[in-house]
Amino acid sequence: MDAFNALTLTGEKTTLSPSDIENFGANLKGELIRSGDASYDECRAIWNGMIDRRPALIVRCGNQDDVIAAVKFARQYDLITSIRSGGHHVAGKAVCDSGLVIDLSLMNKVEVDPKERIARVQGGAKLGDLDEATSQYNLAAPVGVVSETGVAGLTLHGGFGWHSRKYGLAADNLLSVDVITADGRHLRASKDENQDLFWALRGGGGNFGVVTSFEFKLHPIESEVWLLMTLYPLSKARECMEYFREHMPNTPEEFSMINVFWSAPDQEAIPEQYRGLPVLVSFGCCLGDPDKAEKTIAPFRQISEPIADLSARMPFKEVQKVLDEDYPNGRHYYWKSVYINEISDDTIDRLIEYAENRPSALSSIDVWGLGGQVNRIKPESTAFYQRNAPYMIGIEANWDDPDDSQRNIKWARAIYDEFKNNLDAGLYLNFPGFAEEGEELLAKTYGPNYQKLKDIKAKYDPDNFFRGFMNLSGNGSR
Ligand SMILES: Cc1cc2nc3c(=O)[nH]c(=O)nc-3n(C[C@H](O)[C@H](O)[C@H](O)COP(=O)(O)OP(=O)(O)OC[C@H]3O[C@@H](n4cnc5c(N)ncnc54)[C@H](O)[C@@H]3O)c2cc1C
Repeated sequence: MDAFNALTLTGEKTTLSPSDIENFGANLKGELIRSGDASYDECRAIWNGMIDRRPALIVRCGNQDDVIAAVKFARQYDLITSIRSGGHHVAGKAVCDSGLVIDLSLMNKVEVDPKERIARVQGGAKLGDLDEATSQYNLAAPVGVVSETGVAGLTLHGGFGWHSRKYGLAADNLLSVDVITADGRHLRASKDENQDLFWALRGGGGNFGVVTSFEFKLHPIESEVWLLMTLYPLSKARECMEYFREHMPNTPEEFSMINVFWSAPDQEAIPEQYRGLPVLVSFGCCLGDPDKAEKTIAPFRQISEPIADLSARMPFKEVQKVLDEDYPNGRHYYWKSVYINEISDDTIDRLIEYAENRPSALSSIDVWGLGGQVNRIKPESTAFYQRNAPYMIGIEANWDDPDDSQRNIKWARAIYDEFKNNLDAGLYLNFPGFAEEGEELLAKTYGPNYQKLKDIKAKYDPDNFFRGFMNLSGNGSR
């Protein structure tokens, strides 16, 4: 084997010894992919087609020992390292240039203990793996709303989904985690062991170690729940948003909603004259007794005359798959978010204007209703600090032609800039754009928790080996 070059954490070139690489690869249960290997391009590709990074090595870990070996190998050469689980974070930091990727995607097993209502989830599992395993026992873990998303990134940065109003964030439902720290040690963190690390991992992202396993508290779920999916013409968006603003807060917490300014899909269920036109989708899910749920969502299905009403009763794991095909791998994505304090008349007008002026019909603006249990948990009790926002605007620029990148990104940033001072609460780090802004934004995002997080980082990763996707120790600009 020829000498093999890579980059160190300080940005210098280093040459990896061929025999070291050989030994490292030979002892893995999983596989080691090098640039030049047949599967290299497939393995370095992630969900966001805008990201085109070329790591020196990709370790597709087969078990926890592989993760330990990968951390130790990277430390031996002081290599730039990234952690990949679901590969769905928009900023694409799951893959690094010229360094080593610790890829957990082969580690996707889920074990459910139905009696204790606990799921043990390997670090590379996707939401769909988790939903599939738990639904067999009519149980569910509070995670996000698209089954292809990675459990790890979503949970470590918070995790909003259909259970959030009732049971809190994904991170709030963690019981323990297994972590490989920067010195290659395996630690367990929970409310009883390494409490500071457990606190930091619930919102602090990938800055502290590689989480190889998550233990979630599960909640009972009916064998069928109600999906709300009613499409209104954009001309009715004002009426729908006013109705949402007035009535959503009084609904049971089993019900959650996202108002999606989007385009009517090209589907048989949509009358031909509306296909491709801008719409407002009242999108939601009501857990709990299906008969009651049907009554809860009924008024949101008839706010005005809909274009189509695709609402239906179905198993929860199917609700989780409804949006999967709208976010294919390899499309171009730039997603940002901003918390807002209220949905004023002016906000509605501006969102309608932005929806009308989307450079790509694939793009959407999503107004999430938050609150409930997320709100009731004290902001200091986990690293995730911004718990009081009643709403979040998710800005999703989605497009196919690389030549359209600049105008799509500009559109998303304009919405963010317009609303970012509304609550001045920093970012939701699962929808952060490409993390162009650094320290100041992190300080806002973590509020009074920020200094404690940095102290815990210094304790567990004093050399700043794990840069996370926004680096807590530095300026977040990598
Ligand atoms: C289609 C789609 C739907 C989404 N829906 C929701 C939603 O409903 N609710 C919501 O809250 N968010 C949602 N998100 C955002 C999503 O939560 C984030 O993109 C999340 O970070 C993805 O996790 P991942 O494991 O796929 O990330 P990856 O891209 O694999 O990793 C992102 C970063 O997380 C860290 N990380 C990942 N794995 C580990 C690990 N095992 N140990 C330590 N650090 C790790 C690393 O810093 C890494 O760079 C959605 C995203 C997409 C693309």
